[in-house]
Amino acid sequence: MDERIKDWIGQIKIFLLDMDGTIYIGDKPIGAMRDTLAAIRASGRKVVYCTNNSSRTAEEYVQKLKKIGLYEEADAIYTSSMATIGYLNRHYKDRRVYACATKEVCAQFAAGGVHLTEKDAQVCVLAYDTELTYAKIEKMNYFLAKGAVYIATHPDDVCPAPEVYKPDVGSFIQLFRRSCGREPDVICGKPFRVMGEAVAAYCGVSPEQIVMVGDRPHTDIRFGRNNGFHTLLVLSGETDEKKAKTLPETDIPDAILPSLNDIVGML
Ligand SMILES: [Mg+2]
Repeated sequence: MDERIKDWIGQIKIFLLDMDGTIYIGDKPIGAMRDTLAAIRASGRKVVYCTNNSSRTAEEYVQKLKKIGLYEEADAIYTSSMATIGYLNRHYKDRRVYACATKEVCAQFAAGGVHLTEKDAQVCVLAYDTELTYAKIEKMNYFLAKGAVYIATHPDDVCPAPEVYKPDVGSFIQLFRRSCGREPDVICGKPFRVMGEAVAAYCGVSPEQIVMVGDRPHTDIRFGRNNGFHTLLVLSGETDEKKAKTLPETDIPDAILPSLNDIVGML
Protein backbone atom coordinates (compact mmCIF):
# COMPACT_ATOMS: atom_id res chain seq x y z
CA MET A 1 0.00 0.00 0.00
CA ASP A 2 1.25 3.46 -0.87
CA GLU A 3 1.53 5.25 2.46
CA ARG A 4 2.20 8.63 0.80
CA ILE A 5 -1.56 9.03 0.37
CA LYS A 6 -1.90 9.65 4.11
CA ASP A 7 0.06 12.90 3.78
CA TRP A 8 -2.65 14.58 1.69
CA ILE A 9 -5.87 12.56 1.72
CA GLY A 10 -7.21 14.72 4.57
CA GLN A 11 -7.19 17.79 2.28
CA ILE A 12 -9.15 16.15 -0.52
CA LYS A 13 -12.74 17.25 -1.21
CA ILE A 14 -13.09 16.10 -4.85
CA PHE A 15 -12.27 12.73 -6.39
CA LEU A 16 -11.79 13.54 -10.07
CA LEU A 17 -12.04 10.16 -11.77
CA ASP A 18 -10.99 9.04 -15.19
CA MET A 19 -13.43 6.37 -16.35
CA ASP A 20 -12.12 3.66 -18.71
CA GLY A 21 -9.40 1.66 -16.97
CA THR A 22 -10.02 3.47 -13.66
CA ILE A 23 -13.61 2.67 -12.60
CA TYR A 24 -14.67 0.28 -15.35
CA ILE A 25 -13.31 -1.61 -18.32
CA GLY A 26 -15.76 -1.70 -21.20
CA ASP A 27 -19.07 -2.13 -19.36
CA LYS A 28 -17.75 -3.88 -16.26
CA PRO A 29 -17.00 -2.05 -13.01
CA ILE A 30 -13.50 -2.87 -11.72
CA GLY A 31 -13.81 -5.17 -8.67
CA ALA A 32 -15.96 -3.77 -5.87
CA MET A 33 -16.04 -0.27 -7.42
CA ARG A 34 -19.67 0.35 -6.40
CA ASP A 35 -18.72 -0.10 -2.74
CA THR A 36 -15.57 1.96 -3.17
CA LEU A 37 -17.49 4.91 -4.64
CA ALA A 38 -20.06 4.59 -1.85
CA ALA A 39 -17.23 4.77 0.70
CA ILE A 40 -15.78 7.88 -0.97
CA ARG A 41 -19.22 9.59 -0.89
CA ALA A 42 -19.78 8.47 2.72
CA SER A 43 -16.48 10.13 3.69
CA GLY A 44 -18.02 13.46 2.65
CA ARG A 45 -16.19 13.79 -0.65
CA LYS A 46 -17.68 14.41 -4.06
CA VAL A 47 -17.20 12.14 -7.07
CA VAL A 48 -16.66 13.92 -10.40
CA TYR A 49 -16.12 11.83 -13.51
CA CYS A 50 -13.72 13.51 -15.88
CA THR A 51 -13.33 12.44 -19.49
CA ASN A 52 -11.65 13.64 -22.65
CA ASN A 53 -14.22 11.83 -24.75
CA SER A 54 -16.15 14.55 -26.57
CA SER A 55 -18.33 12.17 -28.60
CA ARG A 56 -20.90 11.94 -25.81
CA THR A 57 -22.69 14.51 -23.67
CA ALA A 58 -22.63 14.47 -19.87
CA GLU A 59 -26.23 13.20 -19.93
CA GLU A 60 -25.22 10.26 -22.14
CA TYR A 61 -22.50 9.40 -19.62
CA VAL A 62 -24.99 9.60 -16.74
CA GLN A 63 -27.10 6.99 -18.53
CA LYS A 64 -24.11 4.72 -19.14
CA LEU A 65 -22.89 4.99 -15.53
CA LYS A 66 -26.41 4.41 -14.16
CA LYS A 67 -26.73 1.27 -16.26
CA ILE A 68 -23.65 -0.25 -14.62
CA GLY A 69 -24.58 1.01 -11.16
CA LEU A 70 -21.81 3.56 -10.67
CA TYR A 71 -23.78 6.83 -10.65
CA GLU A 72 -25.47 8.56 -7.72
CA GLU A 73 -27.38 11.84 -7.84
CA ALA A 74 -24.67 13.73 -5.95
CA ASP A 75 -22.04 12.83 -8.58
CA ALA A 76 -21.09 14.97 -11.58
CA ILE A 77 -19.63 14.49 -15.04
CA TYR A 78 -17.16 16.84 -16.67
CA THR A 79 -16.22 16.34 -20.34
CA SER A 80 -13.72 18.06 -22.61
CA SER A 81 -16.63 19.46 -24.63
CA MET A 82 -17.92 21.21 -21.47
CA ALA A 83 -14.45 22.72 -20.98
CA THR A 84 -14.46 23.79 -24.65
CA ILE A 85 -17.87 25.49 -24.33
CA GLY A 86 -16.58 27.42 -21.32
CA TYR A 87 -13.47 28.44 -23.21
CA LEU A 88 -15.47 29.62 -26.24
CA ASN A 89 -17.76 31.68 -24.02
CA ARG A 90 -14.83 33.31 -22.25
CA HIS A 91 -12.67 34.03 -25.30
CA TYR A 92 -14.83 33.94 -28.44
CA LYS A 93 -18.25 35.04 -27.27
CA ASP A 94 -20.67 35.59 -30.18
CA ARG A 95 -18.16 34.51 -32.84
CA ARG A 96 -19.40 32.17 -35.58
CA VAL A 97 -18.26 28.65 -34.67
CA TYR A 98 -18.12 25.56 -36.85
CA ALA A 99 -18.16 22.40 -34.71
CA CYS A 100 -16.99 19.13 -36.16
CA ALA A 101 -18.88 17.04 -33.59
CA THR A 102 -21.76 14.59 -33.21
CA LYS A 103 -25.34 15.85 -33.46
CA GLU A 104 -25.85 15.50 -29.68
CA VAL A 105 -22.64 17.35 -28.87
CA CYS A 106 -23.51 20.14 -31.37
CA ALA A 107 -26.84 20.51 -29.55
CA GLN A 108 -24.90 20.75 -26.28
CA PHE A 109 -22.72 23.54 -27.75
CA ALA A 110 -25.81 25.44 -28.93
CA ALA A 111 -27.49 25.03 -25.52
CA GLY A 112 -24.28 26.33 -23.92
CA GLY A 113 -24.60 29.61 -25.82
CA VAL A 114 -22.20 28.89 -28.69
CA HIS A 115 -23.23 30.49 -31.99
CA LEU A 116 -22.92 27.56 -34.42
CA THR A 117 -22.63 28.11 -38.15
CA GLU A 118 -22.08 26.12 -41.35
CA LYS A 119 -20.52 29.01 -43.27
CA ASP A 120 -18.04 31.85 -42.73
CA ALA A 121 -16.79 30.31 -39.49
CA GLN A 122 -14.39 32.43 -37.42
CA VAL A 123 -13.63 29.58 -35.02
CA CYS A 124 -13.46 25.81 -35.67
CA VAL A 125 -13.88 23.16 -32.99
CA LEU A 126 -12.61 19.65 -33.60
CA ALA A 127 -14.35 17.17 -31.27
CA TYR A 128 -14.41 13.37 -31.27
CA ASP A 129 -16.92 13.16 -34.10
CA THR A 130 -18.07 9.56 -34.46
CA GLU A 131 -20.45 10.78 -37.19
CA LEU A 132 -17.62 12.27 -39.28
CA THR A 133 -18.19 12.51 -43.05
CA TYR A 134 -16.04 13.71 -45.95
CA ALA A 135 -18.29 16.77 -46.29
CA LYS A 136 -17.44 17.75 -42.68
CA ILE A 137 -13.71 17.18 -43.21
CA GLU A 138 -13.82 19.32 -46.34
CA LYS A 139 -15.68 22.12 -44.56
CA MET A 140 -13.35 22.10 -41.56
CA ASN A 141 -10.32 22.13 -43.87
CA TYR A 142 -11.75 25.09 -45.79
CA PHE A 143 -12.32 27.22 -42.68
CA LEU A 144 -8.89 26.34 -41.27
CA ALA A 145 -7.16 27.16 -44.55
CA LYS A 146 -8.99 30.53 -44.49
CA GLY A 147 -7.49 31.25 -41.07
CA ALA A 148 -10.22 30.38 -38.54
CA VAL A 149 -9.14 29.94 -34.91
CA TYR A 150 -8.58 26.21 -34.37
CA ILE A 151 -9.65 24.57 -31.10
CA ALA A 152 -9.44 20.83 -30.40
CA THR A 153 -11.38 19.34 -27.50
CA HIS A 154 -8.55 16.95 -26.53
CA PRO A 155 -5.35 15.39 -27.90
CA ASP A 156 -5.85 11.58 -27.61
CA ASP A 157 -4.80 9.69 -30.74
CA VAL A 158 -6.99 6.70 -29.96
CA CYS A 159 -10.02 5.75 -27.90
CA PRO A 160 -9.77 2.44 -26.01
CA ALA A 161 -11.99 -0.36 -27.34
CA PRO A 162 -12.08 -4.09 -26.51
CA GLU A 163 -10.44 -5.39 -29.70
CA VAL A 164 -8.82 -2.57 -31.70
CA TYR A 165 -8.42 1.02 -30.44
CA LYS A 166 -10.47 3.55 -32.42
CA PRO A 167 -9.17 6.73 -34.14
CA ASP A 168 -9.76 9.75 -31.88
CA VAL A 169 -9.19 13.51 -32.17
CA GLY A 170 -5.37 13.24 -32.24
CA SER A 171 -5.64 11.21 -35.43
CA PHE A 172 -7.90 13.85 -36.98
CA ILE A 173 -5.40 16.54 -35.93
CA GLN A 174 -2.81 14.67 -38.04
CA LEU A 175 -5.21 14.69 -40.99
CA PHE A 176 -5.62 18.49 -40.91
CA ARG A 177 -1.89 18.95 -40.34
CA ARG A 178 -1.33 17.16 -43.66
CA SER A 179 -4.22 18.76 -45.55
CA CYS A 180 -3.78 22.44 -44.59
CA GLY A 181 -0.68 22.69 -42.43
CA ARG A 182 -2.55 23.85 -39.33
CA GLU A 183 -1.96 22.91 -35.69
CA PRO A 184 -4.62 23.53 -33.03
CA ASP A 185 -4.28 26.98 -31.46
CA VAL A 186 -5.72 25.55 -28.24
CA ILE A 187 -6.34 22.03 -26.94
CA CYS A 188 -8.77 21.96 -24.02
CA GLY A 189 -8.83 18.44 -22.49
CA LYS A 190 -6.44 16.43 -20.34
CA PRO A 191 -3.48 17.01 -19.85
CA PHE A 192 -3.93 20.73 -20.55
CA ARG A 193 -4.85 23.59 -18.27
CA VAL A 194 -8.05 24.79 -19.98
CA MET A 195 -9.92 21.77 -18.67
CA GLY A 196 -8.10 21.83 -15.31
CA GLU A 197 -9.03 25.42 -14.56
CA ALA A 198 -12.58 24.82 -15.80
CA VAL A 199 -13.17 21.75 -13.67
CA ALA A 200 -11.67 23.33 -10.52
CA ALA A 201 -13.96 26.36 -11.02
CA TYR A 202 -16.91 24.04 -11.65
CA CYS A 203 -16.20 22.16 -8.39
CA GLY A 204 -15.66 25.41 -6.47
CA VAL A 205 -12.52 24.21 -4.67
CA SER A 206 -8.83 25.01 -4.81
CA PRO A 207 -6.52 22.71 -6.83
CA GLU A 208 -4.91 21.02 -3.80
CA GLN A 209 -8.36 19.84 -2.64
CA ILE A 210 -8.68 17.72 -5.78
CA VAL A 211 -7.15 14.33 -6.48
CA MET A 212 -7.01 13.22 -10.10
CA VAL A 213 -7.24 9.44 -10.33
CA GLY A 214 -6.41 7.72 -13.62
CA ASP A 215 -4.67 4.88 -15.43
CA ARG A 216 -2.87 6.91 -18.16
CA PRO A 217 0.23 8.73 -16.90
CA HIS A 218 0.69 10.99 -19.96
CA THR A 219 -2.89 12.30 -19.85
CA ASP A 220 -4.43 11.76 -16.38
CA ILE A 221 -1.35 12.22 -14.20
CA ARG A 222 0.24 14.95 -16.30
CA PHE A 223 -3.16 16.73 -16.24
CA GLY A 224 -3.24 16.62 -12.46
CA ARG A 225 0.34 17.85 -12.20
CA ASN A 226 -0.16 20.64 -14.77
CA ASN A 227 -3.06 21.93 -12.68
CA GLY A 228 -1.74 21.57 -9.14
CA PHE A 229 -4.03 18.66 -8.20
CA HIS A 230 -2.90 15.65 -6.20
CA THR A 231 -2.45 12.61 -8.42
CA LEU A 232 -3.13 8.92 -7.97
CA LEU A 233 -2.12 6.40 -10.62
CA VAL A 234 -4.08 3.14 -10.62
CA LEU A 235 -2.72 -0.01 -12.25
CA SER A 236 -6.14 -1.34 -13.27
CA GLY A 237 -5.93 -0.12 -16.88
CA GLU A 238 -3.22 0.86 -19.33
CA THR A 239 -0.26 0.96 -16.94
CA ASP A 240 1.38 -2.05 -15.29
CA GLU A 241 3.84 -2.10 -12.39
CA LYS A 242 6.85 -2.23 -14.68
CA LYS A 243 5.77 0.78 -16.74
CA ALA A 244 4.92 2.70 -13.55
CA LYS A 245 8.59 2.44 -12.50
CA THR A 246 9.95 4.09 -15.65
CA LEU A 247 7.74 7.17 -16.05
CA PRO A 248 9.16 10.47 -17.28
CA GLU A 249 9.43 13.20 -14.64
CA THR A 250 6.28 14.98 -15.94
CA ASP A 251 4.10 11.91 -15.39
CA ILE A 252 5.15 10.73 -11.92
CA PRO A 253 2.10 10.56 -9.61
CA ASP A 254 1.90 11.44 -5.91
CA ALA A 255 0.91 7.84 -5.22
CA ILE A 256 0.23 4.51 -6.94
CA LEU A 257 -2.36 1.85 -6.05
CA PRO A 258 -3.24 -1.46 -7.74
CA SER A 259 -6.78 -0.11 -8.17
CA LEU A 260 -8.98 2.64 -6.73
CA ASN A 261 -10.61 -0.06 -4.59
CA ASP A 262 -7.44 -0.11 -2.48
CA ILE A 263 -8.14 3.38 -1.15
CA VAL A 264 -11.08 2.28 0.99
CA GLY A 265 -9.13 1.75 4.23
CA MET A 266 -7.38 5.11 3.85
CA LEU A 267 -10.35 7.47 3.51
MG1 LIG B 1 -8.40 5.69 -18.70
